[in-house]
Amino acid sequence: MDLTTVIAPSRRGACPTLDTPMLTGDGLLARLRISGNRLSPEHLTLLANLALVHGNGLVEVSARGNLQVRGLSPSSAPLFEDAVSAIFDLETGLVIDISPLSGEDPMEKADSRPLAEAIRTGAMAMHGKLGPKVSVVVDSAGQISLASLKADIRLVALDAAHWAVHFGDGKPQVMDAEGAISATLAMLGALAAFGADARATDLFPVTNASPISTHHGAIPPLSKRPEEGGVTMQLTSGHTTAIALPFGQMHGEALIVLADGARTAGLGNIRLAPGNRLLFDGASPSLVAQAAALGFIVASDDARLRISACIGSDGCASGNIAARRLAELLASHVQPGTHLHVSGCAKGCAHPRATDVTLVGRADGIGLVINGRAGDTPSEILDEAGLIPAVAARQEAR
Ligand code: SF4
Repeated sequence: MDLTTVIAPSRRGACPTLDTPMLTGDGLLARLRISGNRLSPEHLTLLANLALVHGNGLVEVSARGNLQVRGLSPSSAPLFEDAVSAIFDLETGLVIDISPLSGEDPMEKADSRPLAEAIRTGAMAMHGKLGPKVSVVVDSAGQISLASLKADIRLVALDAAHWAVHFGDGKPQVMDAEGAISATLAMLGALAAFGADARATDLFPVTNASPISTHHGAIPPLSKRPEEGGVTMQLTSGHTTAIALPFGQMHGEALIVLADGARTAGLGNIRLAPGNRLLFDGASPSLVAQAAALGFIVASDDARLRISACIGSDGCASGNIAARRLAELLASHVQPGTHLHVSGCAKGCAHPRATDVTLVGRADGIGLVINGRAGDTPSEILDEAGLIPAVAARQEAR
């Protein structure tokens, strides 16, 4: 692989893809946007095997529900690309996130798929003009919240015919489906005209306006429900169960065992979901127990769900601490209602927002930030021995 087709870690606004992987501390990282966000157990086995053969074996499900494979090399990445391209249908172009249950969710207010498809089709003409990080969320307001996903344009269903349309962080407007599609495409057109650095959050910064009341009632705030593992959700036909990857990452060998279990049980569909989750349609309690034994998160009260952690020095050149390994050690000390962020450095990739307690790897130790972000000035510099007492003290003080 020609290294000019690799994204350097410092390149602002770039996103890794299959054909343009990103250079990280443990080699090249490729991100796969699987069409429809679904794969079979057989496909999961194939992908995990490819990660073992061509990468370092680590497979991730990102916060947005994309698959990532780590540890590829300049020589193995093209082989991985060829193999993946032969198996999977991948999405390219504008990122549009919808719930993986959309259209089959008895709790949703509207089906987001027709809007997403119309926006995708309309945005094709803007290909190459929009920045790679520009994204649209079409939230059907069902069992899976997309509120934690960043978006330039966010459409949230109010009822079967009306959508709250948010541009950047601006005040939402209520529109019917046709109006929401037109307004979204107009905004994308404006961003494309401004150039690849343009983001809707720059054009529409945060407002402190109170929620708008309409004849549909007040537009509900974007409540950020906690990410959940091990939760069974009803579908219009059957059910699906969430199994989360701890800190978004699992070794390929464990994924192969789980996929084999799903195939043996006769399951046919695995959905990629936001919050580092896989949803297994029709999963039985025995499959969930197998997942737990393999180290996956299968309970919504698992303490690891209360922690955000990047890979840190185990896989990122900027990392000063092995963030995920420290997070595992601290997990049993994080009480319900507390969110801990362990960050390899001040960039804070795993959780850009403020948290109750943030531990930040630095050259001179581990910074402790209370009610702040990884980039904020720490109140103390700790060593590893001081972490558990610091986390415990913070919770006692609440
Ligand atoms: S926050 Fe973590 S993943 Fe992001 S640059 Fe720092 S060490 Fe790397």
